[in-house]
Amino acid sequence: MSTANRYQHIKSTKPVVGKARKLKDLMIKSDNRICADCGAPDPKWASANIGVFLCLKCGDVHKALGPDISKVLSVTLDDWSDSDIDSMVEVGGNSHANSIYEAFLPKDRPKPKPDSTMEYRTKFIRAKYETQDFLKPSLRISSRSSFKSTTSVKSVDSNFSSTSRKD
Ligand SMILES: [Zn+2]
Repeated sequence: MSTANRYQHIKSTKPVVGKARKLKDLMIKSDNRICADCGAPDPKWASANIGVFLCLKCGDVHKALGPDISKVLSVTLDDWSDSDIDSMVEVGGNSHANSIYEAFLPKDRPKPKPDSTMEYRTKFIRAKYETQDFLKPSLRISSRSSFKSTTSVKSVDSNFSSTSRKD
């Protein structure tokens, strides 16, 4: 149609310097060419605070988690603040983020596939980022425990404190 349109934005140049360029560089790395959560190709969304690239479906799930957990931005449409780009670049994208968030991914909790149901996808993404079930235990954010606690490990310790109690 109109090739003219493609150049329209040039008029409004705020200088597209280093930052935006960094985001682009990050996007084209091979691990960032697929969705961090389900592996769908060509992700168009990203979570700036988590530092992952996401497909449309997984991006929707992330949005539902709320911005405190996942700040979802379009890689093509949204204006990225410098700090958003910084945090994205700092994480380094999907491989690194997944090496943290999926460090202890159990065999019986396989990642969703591009065609997985919304239900499975949501369950997995919530476990991965909201309750952080697959995180290395030392990294788990304990202050988030207001969500119904999924851990039962704690109760092992309490045996000790209550041993001398009975008479
Ligand atoms: Zn996905």
